[in-house]
Amino acid sequence: MAKKFIIGIDLGGTNLKLALLDLKFKIKDREVLSTQNFIKKENLVSIIVRSINKIIEDNRLKKRDILGIGLGVPGPVDAKRGVIHFFPNIPGWREVNLKGVLQRRLGLAVFLDNDAKLMSLAEYKLGKAKGFKNVICLTLGTGVGGAVILEGRLYRGVNNAAGEIGHIPINEKGPLCNCGGIACLEAYIGNNRILREARKIFKRNITLEELSILAKKTCLPAGRQNKQALNIWLKMGGRLGTALSGIVNLLNLDAIVMGGGIANVGKILFDKVRETIRKRAMSVQAKHVKVFKAKLGDDAGLIGAAVLVKEGMHK
Ligand SMILES: [Zn+2]
Repeated sequence: MAKKFIIGIDLGGTNLKLALLDLKFKIKDREVLSTQNFIKKENLVSIIVRSINKIIEDNRLKKRDILGIGLGVPGPVDAKRGVIHFFPNIPGWREVNLKGVLQRRLGLAVFLDNDAKLMSLAEYKLGKAKGFKNVICLTLGTGVGGAVILEGRLYRGVNNAAGEIGHIPINEKGPLCNCGGIACLEAYIGNNRILREARKIFKRNITLEELSILAKKTCLPAGRQNKQALNIWLKMGGRLGTALSGIVNLLNLDAIVMGGGIANVGKILFDKVRETIRKRAMSVQAKHVKVFKAKLGDDAGLIGAAVLVKEGMHK
């Protein structure tokens, strides 16, 4: 019998998401687990193995029905060998051959790649980047991840490390970044930076969601406006748009697709990014490029993991 399903896994800083997908990348079943304990590698491997076996059993399938396991991870990897180099935001992982370990434990083919690359594969195959040839995709969150698609192919670079848009330095001096660099884009527009700036202004802890609602209230009658919240988002959009202008000039893109928690603020941020690119990038490139919000939302990582398995794009 032909294999009919793929299991996609999206390993994030907070959650481990797991889904059963059909060969058209439709999600048939899913599970979300907390990853509090996954700093310990052995725990993570056990959790993944147990969850995969469970989702197969729950759906009355056999291992022979599964084409393979696709796994997205939050850091740089050697996708061919399936080795995780390290996780910038999770300590304790250095040169781990997760693919080999999981294949031995599961008896199934395992493919893994960086989560931003998988998000871009998903958006390219089924989302907002579909139909374009030259695209960059960004995930905006605690980390700022990215991937580059050139002439219809995911551009990997010599070490499969291309696409680290969040780690483009945008200043000569500036804040330290989690990657060990100085003044990276991520250090200026990542969640932590936004929340720190908001705390300074509002003199209390504030969530991204609240900051986004406060900013949107500027559309409502006077008295309910919060210009300070709006200004934080405009500042972020300006910084992001400035960095993207350089990339637009360099690559002459068709489209930029942005997802992740920060992208949920929506129009305020996107309009500022578009305006900044129009002003800062060179006119031919700026005119051509479109800036979209990612379509597949939180499922992009899972779908991209399944695309990786089906198309074996790193072979
Ligand atoms: Zn960095």
